[in-house]
Amino acid sequence: MAAPQHVRAAPLARALRASATATATATVSASAPAPAPIKSQGTSRRALLGLSEPQLRQLALDLGEESYRGKQLHDLLYKSRAKQIQDFNHVPKAFREALLGAGWSAGRSPVHHAVTASDGTTKILLKLEDNRLIETVGIPVDDDNKGSSRLTACVSSQVGCPLRCSFCATGKGGFARNLQPNEIVEQVLAIEETFKQRVTNVVFMGMGEPMMNLKSVLEAHRCFNKELKIGQRMMTISTVGVPNTIKMLASHKLQSTLAVSLHAPNQKLRETIVPSAKSYPLGALMDDCKNYFLETGRRVSFEYTLLVNFVASWDQR
Ligand code: SF4
Repeated sequence: MAAPQHVRAAPLARALRASATATATATVSASAPAPAPIKSQGTSRRALLGLSEPQLRQLALDLGEESYRGKQLHDLLYKSRAKQIQDFNHVPKAFREALLGAGWSAGRSPVHHAVTASDGTTKILLKLEDNRLIETVGIPVDDDNKGSSRLTACVSSQVGCPLRCSFCATGKGGFARNLQPNEIVEQVLAIEETFKQRVTNVVFMGMGEPMMNLKSVLEAHRCFNKELKIGQRMMTISTVGVPNTIKMLASHKLQSTLAVSLHAPNQKLRETIVPSAKSYPLGALMDDCKNYFLETGRRVSFEYTLLVNFVASWDQR
């Protein structure tokens, strides 16, 4: 992605106080057969978290159970928030053992550390199955005029980031791997459990570039919308710009905001801090942004990180 969160969480919190808005329909298929429990990068088991109710019902049938057992799994994952298959007390022991034996896990990771700033913004580190740490940030905002409160989750999509923007701590740390859908979904669950409050908004602006892990991002987006009931218009997908991916995202016709991190007002300057800009000139990026708007009817927002003596300088106009 590209957000100021990688520079510091507090500026992000301020930036987000003005953001987001309502609902719509997801475009990632939720009725596909339950995927086979295959080993994936960084994980030894296939995760139940992130699957839809039809997929969980199909999984129950595949394991010789009645379809309604899949509905029970759905409730355990998304309502009871059970963290381990061993805790699935509402289903028979034999079914729990069959799930474990077939290589499934609930798909939840423990909280490694959490720290809260004076404005309530809380950064949570989750320890993944392969012992890698990812961060997710919860940003509470009270809207005094409306008497309402929002809770925004800023979620990571990769462990590290391969794009190496010059100002970004995540980029400097290098890239380890893409996150699986459950590893994105569980970030929102961890924030809800920490704040004891529902997440109202999601921004894909944490560690990593979402467009380089679009499959997992789209699956997590579907899960947030369908299973956790977070409106598509309450979600923002951020990118620093990766060739050919904005068109791909536009084709899914999500009702979510696209946020493009520019960080510089012209191509020459941009290339000096965003290495990927060399292969994606501003003209082509703007054409893809226009296309996103035409395909989805959703606005595109542009972001800058104001770097002292750099893009913040009037000399750069
Ligand atoms: S290095 Fe990656 S995570 Fe950091 S700002 Fe660039 S795209 Fe975003």
